Amino acid sequence: MPGGHDPDGEYEALRALYPWLPHPACGPGWHGLVEKVCESLVLLLPPQQLRELAVLEIGEAAGRLRIRFQGAGGFEAQIRALLREAEQASCRICQQCGAPGQRARRGGWWATLCDEHARQGIWL
Ligand SMILES: [Zn+2]
Repeated sequence: MPGGHDPDGEYEALRALYPWLPHPACGPGWHGLVEKVCESLVLLLPPQQLRELAVLEIGEAAGRLRIRFQGAGGFEAQIRALLREAEQASCRICQQCGAPGQRARRGGWWATLCDEHARQGIWL
């Protein structure tokens, strides 16, 4: 991403819209994905259920986006399907910058990175 990109500020804007979001432990490249998940949750859940939903963790596990939640009521299967989709999408998006990327094991760690970030060998 070009200069002026501010992942923390971007995320705070997202949390202003979705106050139930925990602070993310995933790379800034996936914030767009997280935003899509939030939008889908708001569309899927009635307001009462949305209030009861607790998003416990937004993180990364083995190079994939991982979101854990509880309190989904009768919507658990739908939420799981939605999160599975985001997880699969995260395997093709650089976790650092959001460019198209590939999930691979590097130096003992799984990470999904674009060519440039893979070359730099740095990520979270
Ligand atoms: Zn990248």
